[in-house]
Amino acid sequence: MLFDLHVHTKISLCSELEIDDVLKHAKARGLDGVCITDHHSMEIRKHLREGLQNDGLCVIFGLEYSTADGDFLLFGPFENISNDLLATQLLEEVNRSGGAAIAAHPFRSNRRVSEHLVREGFCRIVESVNGRNVAIENQQVENWRRKYSLNYCGGSDAHSLDELGTVTTRFSTSILSRSDLIRELNYGLYAPEFSDSNRIFEFKESAF
Ligand SMILES: [Zn+2]
Ligand SMILES: [Zn+2]
Repeated sequence: MLFDLHVHTKISLCSELEIDDVLKHAKARGLDGVCITDHHSMEIRKHLREGLQNDGLCVIFGLEYSTADGDFLLFGPFENISNDLLATQLLEEVNRSGGAAIAAHPFRSNRRVSEHLVREGFCRIVESVNGRNVAIENQQVENWRRKYSLNYCGGSDAHSLDELGTVTTRFSTSILSRSDLIRELNYGLYAPEFSDSNRIFEFKESAF
C-alpha cells in the first residue's frame, strides 16, 4: 500500500492545504492512505473520521512534534500529549505507550535530528526522503544508512495541494487503521518512493 506519511492541513498555520482537497485528490495521485501530521496538533479528529473513507482511502491521524533535538512524526495515543517534552522524554513516552516515532527530515539544515537519538536506539525510523528538503538534505541520510540499522520511509511534507503525494512510502502489507500503521512502521517492511528523482536527489549528469 502506498501512503503519504507526512501531510499538513490548514490546522498547521504554515499550511494552505484543505483537508477536503486531500480527500478529493489523494486516490488520483495513486495513494491508498494519507497521514495527517499537523504541528503539535491532532485537531483533525474534530473534522473527520479516522480510518477508511467511503472511497477506500485510509486516513490516519498523527502529529509532528518539534524538539530542540529535531522534529518527529508521531503515531499513537497522543491527542493530549504535553508540548514541552525533551526528545529523549518524548521518544521514551512513544515507546512506553506502544506508538511509533519517525525522525522527520533529519538533515534539514535548520531542523536537524541529533544523531545520538538514533545511535542510542531512541528512534529507529527515519524519513530518508522528504519532499520539502533540498537534495543535499536527503542525500546526507546516507551517512546514517552506512552506520546504523534503521528503517527508512518517505513523506511529502505537503503544505499545499501540489505537494501531496510527491514522496510516499510503500508498505508490503495492508494498513486500515492507526494500529496497523504503528505495527507496520515498527515491525514491517517498507521503503520510500518518489515521483521525481531529479528533484529529490539531483541526479544530474553534471554532478558526476
Ligand atoms: Zn509546517
Ligand atoms: Zn512537516
